[in-house]
Amino acid sequence: MKKRTIKIIIAFILFLVSLVISFENVWINSILYIISYLIVGLDIVIKAVRNIFRGKIFDENFLMTIATIGAFAIGEFPEAVAVMLFYQVGELFQSYAVDKSRKSIASLMDIRPDFANLKKDGKIEKCDPEEINIEDIIIIKPGEKVPLDGTVIDGNSMLDTSALTGESIPREVTVGDDILSGCINQTGLLEVKVTKKFGESTVSKILDLVENASSKKSKSENFISKFAKYYTPIVVVIAILLAIIPPIIFKETEFTEWLYRALTFLVVSCPCALVISIPLGFFGGIGGASKLGILVKGSNYLEALSNTEIVVFDKTGTLTEGVFEVQKINPVDISKEDLIKYAAYAESFSNHPIAISLIKAYGKSIDSKIISETSELSGLGVNAIVDGKNILVGNEKLMKEKNITYEKCNEIGTILYVAIDNKFVGTITISDKIKVDAKDSIERLKRNNVKKTIMLTGDKIKVAENVASKLNIDEVYAELLPSDKVEKVEELIKMKSDNGKLAFVGDGINDAPVLAISDIGIAMGGLGSDAAIEAADVVLMTDEPSKVVDAIKISRKTMRIVKQNIIFAISIKILVLILSAFGLSNMWEAVFADVGVSVLAILNSLRVLRVKKSKK
Ligand code: ADP
Ligand code: MG
Repeated sequence: MKKRTIKIIIAFILFLVSLVISFENVWINSILYIISYLIVGLDIVIKAVRNIFRGKIFDENFLMTIATIGAFAIGEFPEAVAVMLFYQVGELFQSYAVDKSRKSIASLMDIRPDFANLKKDGKIEKCDPEEINIEDIIIIKPGEKVPLDGTVIDGNSMLDTSALTGESIPREVTVGDDILSGCINQTGLLEVKVTKKFGESTVSKILDLVENASSKKSKSENFISKFAKYYTPIVVVIAILLAIIPPIIFKETEFTEWLYRALTFLVVSCPCALVISIPLGFFGGIGGASKLGILVKGSNYLEALSNTEIVVFDKTGTLTEGVFEVQKINPVDISKEDLIKYAAYAESFSNHPIAISLIKAYGKSIDSKIISETSELSGLGVNAIVDGKNILVGNEKLMKEKNITYEKCNEIGTILYVAIDNKFVGTITISDKIKVDAKDSIERLKRNNVKKTIMLTGDKIKVAENVASKLNIDEVYAELLPSDKVEKVEELIKMKSDNGKLAFVGDGINDAPVLAISDIGIAMGGLGSDAAIEAADVVLMTDEPSKVVDAIKISRKTMRIVKQNIIFAISIKILVLILSAFGLSNMWEAVFADVGVSVLAILNSLRVLRVKKSKK
């Protein structure tokens, strides 16, 4: 960039000298112009020629080359140099803007750790994170980035997770807690046992995701590249006609006058403003969103989000905390302790919120040696052999399916039915809390023109209706198996308008099929769940439903800016094209218009990067 700036300055000085001083020998002026032109324009000319051989004839290099060489040919030397000069200034500005937005995204994505302190044979060694293996012990000092995912085995500290979640409140961690790469250790020294290799760690996943996002093009971007493909040749043809036909018709006009107009026409027609500012707009939108812990996997999804018409939520873990508390234990021919123990053992391999809560309620360590043949019955419960006994834990449906006679429990809450060796041994009633920002989020979705909010759940209808009415959700469908959820969402997709989109928000646990079939699959709680990051189109790094509203707002802002740019650039172009065809605009004004539009469009695009976190 520096080299380019110096070139422009030198060329500009030569240009000015030649413009201001009229040498006695006119040739000196011409030579100064030519030197100045070569300094700024030679690489454009070379690029144009090279692209012709590569089959890319009609690009902006070509337009600039033809226009300026044409200007030389009709003796408009200062014009030719000025066009090249301004064009280069515009280019310089563009690369500055692109660089700036890249850097600001890079800095917010500045989570890649440079090293890990490996503890080996009592010594500490600085290593490349990629060399660390699972089960290795690493030390993380205050101020350092967590290089790999792992479990704390010694020490406690506060972690700054803001790079991943956009959440500024630090999280406290202590022995036994899982920590994620990309966070920053703030206060204490931590000794961590690594649980994932670098390639599988959160940091690598997120970086991959962000880096690949721009390869998924939005409709507007595809439109612009198609547009540029047809537009440029058309403009060139019009310019040729403009140079040839009028002089034939109006005999009294000069050929060079029309050639000049045609050349001006070419300068204006350069589509650079659009070509650069639109991807930049999406780039900014994706970057701005990731600042808030919203990872959008492609411009196409960002675009789709702006047309969200129906938002479907999963219940557990999405609208509710997914942290169940045991309310009541009703054993039948078994002690309370044994009932909860067997249930916890059977659940111990599952990562369902219910399972995690139950294990926590049990509170004692689990001897995994006596557990075998574990299986998860999605939407129903779990099955495992514990200490030689066949344990079933799940809902009423599960009992029915396994033909087990049970006593119905009518308490309020989610009821877990437990059976040992096909004999019903009691129920455990658990209940969940609604997330603090859930109600407000539903209301804000409605205010932001989302037509319908829907809740799907595998839980009982009573529990579901209770939650839905508290949240003011429009429709609720309960007692659904994961496959029923897929069917329901397929039905709902048919109900929306042609342009409207359906977004499904889930916690990523057993929701992967639904995430995949929705127009936009939004997974919550990217911190932790691998399935979520893979299956979804948008990943919310925190568990807050309000981030769905933020995502929609950012997408609308991005689309607004992109549309402004398209309309602004095209209308200015058309205006100047008409003016130049009628000879009302000279080449100077044309190049000013072109560079000016590019610069303004770029500045407008950069606005998307600035996003505010919504108020709670
Ligand atoms: P949601 O649709 O609310 O996210 P799921 O589809 O994950 O719920 O589960 C639906 C129902 O299946 C739960 O309410 C529970 O009754 C039962 N269930 C699912 N997984 C488990 C489990 N690991 N242990 C016990 N019951 C389970
Ligand atoms: Mg769920």
